[in-house]
Amino acid sequence: MSACLPCDLEDAAAAAIIFRHDVWSCEIADGYDVPGWYILRLRRHAEGWSGPTPEELATFGTASQQLAGAIQAATGAPTVYFMSFGENYPHFHFLVIARESELPAESRGAAILTRRAEHRDMAESLRVGDQVRSAFAASPR
Ligand SMILES: [Zn+2]
Repeated sequence: MSACLPCDLEDAAAAAIIFRHDVWSCEIADGYDVPGWYILRLRRHAEGWSGPTPEELATFGTASQQLAGAIQAATGAPTVYFMSFGENYPHFHFLVIARESELPAESRGAAILTRRAEHRDMAESLRVGDQVRSAFAASPR
């Protein structure tokens, strides 16, 4: 384990991997294992918006669009949040969250992060992740 959670996800178990391309990868992360929560990350360590190369960024949009579509198809979530703070881990990455339709208004937006402590469930995260992985694999590139 390094001090960089996004780098450590390179060693994630196969069951936790939603997709993995040459440049981008998406996993379920221990500690952020709320069902419908994922980490989309640049596979190599590069920090902030200045870190990725233009070539890497050229595929970011399509990978993000495909991931969001797969999450919505698999979970029925009306919207998918992409959150990036670069605070705890400057490694270029996003916390990607399926915002379920029943979520109370006071828990929407950035407030959804307060749900992490009470809603972690790795088994359910992996079950939902299987569906997202299948939807991602079946979606057009
Ligand atoms: Zn890193």
